[in-house]
Amino acid sequence: MAEYDYDVIFIGAGPGGYVGAIRAAQLGLKTACVESRETLGGTCLNVGCIPSKALLHGSEKFAEAANGTLARYGVKLGKVELDLAALQADKADAVKGLTGGIEFLFKKNKVDWLKGHGTFKDAHTVTVAGKDYTAKEVVIATGSSVTPLPGVEVDNDKGVIVDSTGALALSKVPGHLVVIGGGVIGLEMGSVWRRLGAKVTVVEFLDQLLPGMDGDIRKEAAKIFKKQGMDLKLGTKVTGASVKGKKATLTLEPAKGGAAETLEADCVLVAIGRRPNVAGLGLENIGLELNARGQIETGHDFRTKVDGVRAIGDVIPGPMLAHKAEDEGIAVAEYIATGTGIVNHDVIPGVVYTLPEFAGVGLTEEQAREKGEIKVGKFPMMANSRAKTNHEPDGFVKVIADAKTDKVLGVWAIATVAGTMISEAALAMEFGATSEDIAYTCHAHPTHSEAVKEAAMAVTGKPIHI
Ligand code: FAD
Ligand code: NAD
Repeated sequence: MAEYDYDVIFIGAGPGGYVGAIRAAQLGLKTACVESRETLGGTCLNVGCIPSKALLHGSEKFAEAANGTLARYGVKLGKVELDLAALQADKADAVKGLTGGIEFLFKKNKVDWLKGHGTFKDAHTVTVAGKDYTAKEVVIATGSSVTPLPGVEVDNDKGVIVDSTGALALSKVPGHLVVIGGGVIGLEMGSVWRRLGAKVTVVEFLDQLLPGMDGDIRKEAAKIFKKQGMDLKLGTKVTGASVKGKKATLTLEPAKGGAAETLEADCVLVAIGRRPNVAGLGLENIGLELNARGQIETGHDFRTKVDGVRAIGDVIPGPMLAHKAEDEGIAVAEYIATGTGIVNHDVIPGVVYTLPEFAGVGLTEEQAREKGEIKVGKFPMMANSRAKTNHEPDGFVKVIADAKTDKVLGVWAIATVAGTMISEAALAMEFGATSEDIAYTCHAHPTHSEAVKEAAMAVTGKPIHI
């Protein structure tokens, strides 16, 4: 009889765990994946990336019809009305299709789904629904949940103070939505409900939106969202909330201290970041400690300090992104099966899927300047023929290169399709490209991506169209 039930058990079936489990099975390992949700796919497929993008897409279509964008192209419409139930049903359909797809892939690849909450009994034994399962290697891929804000208690069922899960499921457009946190979730969900008719106020502790992104991008983001009608209260903190019936009253203060004010809302979205899921995992049973931020530290091969236990995705340090978790899932499976694997953590793109989209990969200009001498090339979308034709003037592309070697260190973009454009930059950086390499690569015309080429040409001062 085999020493263990499985070669590897993944705990959590999000983009980290499910992708890792499939790759492990493809590599011939006997694999199981523990998941306590009723469907596979984790935060991303159930209450994150996918439902938020379904609502972003649908609300964009509604706004195009309602705000006259379609009329400009000669599309004649009758009275435009929102059927929110239909939009929510479309979102549910997208989620159902994709989560069901993972279940199919598990069966196809012979990955066992162990249904229930997983707890370590020891480093090689995980208890699920009262039964023990053993594995040579266990990978923690338990993801993250919303960080609570003391004094502002989330109750998604009531629908007055909600987190992102509640904000994805509202059955009525709120009159006034106050978003606490001007990060990715706040701006994406704020955009959805603003387009559907809500007044939206974003309260952000820092002086700028979108922490972690390039300084120019953050400044421009504030201008763009203000122009779209969002009220931004930057440098402001929320100190408390009270709920009466279907209304909330928030108390706010300048972040640096000063006079308090109150703000009434029909709905409050708490989106101040996420924290790793480790509760009830039994880490005390295997002697695994967390770092100061509550994360599990790992080495390059995703090994933790406990022999036989590795960790990937949102539960370890690094950006909390689905594609980062997926790549780590593939790499950890390859490390376990073959002894080698790779994730280049210096080249992980990030995208905010608003309109326009905000995207970046590599170092910000501020980070690059701290490391040494750089050259920067910038090209406005207003001068890009495709964006101009489509009436999409907002944004720019910025290429940051090493002053001596010309190696590309970072690329940042604001454009309607910046999320798609940034893959080219990631690929270029993965191959160690110089700005000249991008500038001399033929780009199809007319595409938004030509702005990447022109920004690369601008690094040495030679763009054509400005
Ligand atoms: P998760 O996806 O969180 O999955 C972990 C799974 O483990 C969960 O299903 C959980 O139920 C399960 N679990 C936890 N503990 C246990 C246990 N003890 N036993 C059994 N099961 C357990 N990222 C992007 O890249 N692009 C986006 O557009 C994007 N949009 C987002 C929108 C929203 C509203 C949110 C909230 C997040 C978004 N993210 C996005 C982030 C993305 O969802 C996460 O980075 C990603 O899901 C992390 O993957 P993971 O596998 O580490 O964890
Ligand atoms: P975030 O870190 O992007 O933004 C949180 C914001 O809240 C920050 O700007 C922070 O300064 C602010 N903040 C913190 N405390 C505050 C307070 N008391 N009052 C006011 N503002 C406060 O976090 P998020 O938007 O909650 O998203 C969580 C994670 O989910 C992110 O790490 C992100 O990577 C991931 N996510 C990604 C996508 C995407 O890739 N498109 C979409 C959604 C979520």
